Amino acid sequence: MTDAFVEVRQLRCHFKNGNNLLSAVDGINLSIAPGEVLGLVGESGSGKSTLGRIIAGLQPRSAGQLLIDGEEMPNQYSRRQFRTMATNVQMVFQDSYASLNPRMTILASLQEPLWSLGIAGQAAKDKAAYWLDRVGLPPSAGERYPHELSGGQRQRIGIARAFIAEPKLVICDEPVSALDVSVQAQIINLLQELQREHNTAMLFIAHDLAVVRFLATRTAVMYLGEIVEIGPTDRVFESPRHPYTARLLAAHLDGNPRDRVLRVAAPTKTAVNRAPLATDSGCRFAPRCHIAEPACFNTPPWLQPSRVDTEAACHRIVYIEILKARGS
Ligand code: ADP
Ligand code: MG
Repeated sequence: MTDAFVEVRQLRCHFKNGNNLLSAVDGINLSIAPGEVLGLVGESGSGKSTLGRIIAGLQPRSAGQLLIDGEEMPNQYSRRQFRTMATNVQMVFQDSYASLNPRMTILASLQEPLWSLGIAGQAAKDKAAYWLDRVGLPPSAGERYPHELSGGQRQRIGIARAFIAEPKLVICDEPVSALDVSVQAQIINLLQELQREHNTAMLFIAHDLAVVRFLATRTAVMYLGEIVEIGPTDRVFESPRHPYTARLLAAHLDGNPRDRVLRVAAPTKTAVNRAPLATDSGCRFAPRCHIAEPACFNTPPWLQPSRVDTEAACHRIVYIEILKARGS
């Protein structure tokens, strides 16, 4: 795809885990178009943060390609490429406290990303003052230190820092998970406003499916380092094709399954309690899947188009589509 702002090809990231290698990201292909909001969901440990950090240039990859605006980025950047990344790709973290220097005033923290791009002096101060106001904080907050702000206010600063250099892509990794429920919606609204105002592409990683459904135009579902389903958000949520997506949604819709097929693909006690089997040669989800058949344990599935514009990596996709068509 030539019009993608970000593209990853066959991306892999392994970590040493004792004598074994743990594949946190295992062969992911993905692209994000300019201005697009891609949601990324999946249970804890599925590799979402690792993927986000690789795209942000904060984590080296073991294999595969990362293209930013068509340019292939090596693990070790040249100075120019470092600048390209700093200008174009920014990240908002779950823990805004950890990403702020405790000894810097808020106003200085806001200017920091600009300093590294060679913007200093009054120009940087003016921009910082503008962004302080833009994210809803009073000028007096600029003189404060991170510990003097509330979690919500700190996250507003984290967001201002991410947007201040007007990047083309902002990666948000669980940006509201650590916040009180009462402030989560305000922060989500702020992110959406800024995204629209600046037409920023976004990779939005979240546990909370409702938030992803609200923000994302496209949604990808990760399971153990792989994308198992991807497509337009409404389709993924209304017509999940992969049994894992269905299960993820069923867990959220607990007691209120609007789609009967969703219930068909929901977990049964036997499936959940079945002992994990070695499936290195097959579908990673097969040991937990209630519709797995022998082939699922032998052959890895690949992303296949479904009838609702999504793609799902499931050998049983035809079976699922027949069930859906029957409305059973
Ligand atoms: P998620 O964000 O979906 O919860 P992560 O990307 O944080 O998943 O982690 C994916 C897997 O990689 C997990 O098993 C995690 O323990 C492992 N992992 C992540 N970062 C490291 C690291 N720096 N060293 C070793 N293992 C890691
Ligand atoms: Mg994570």
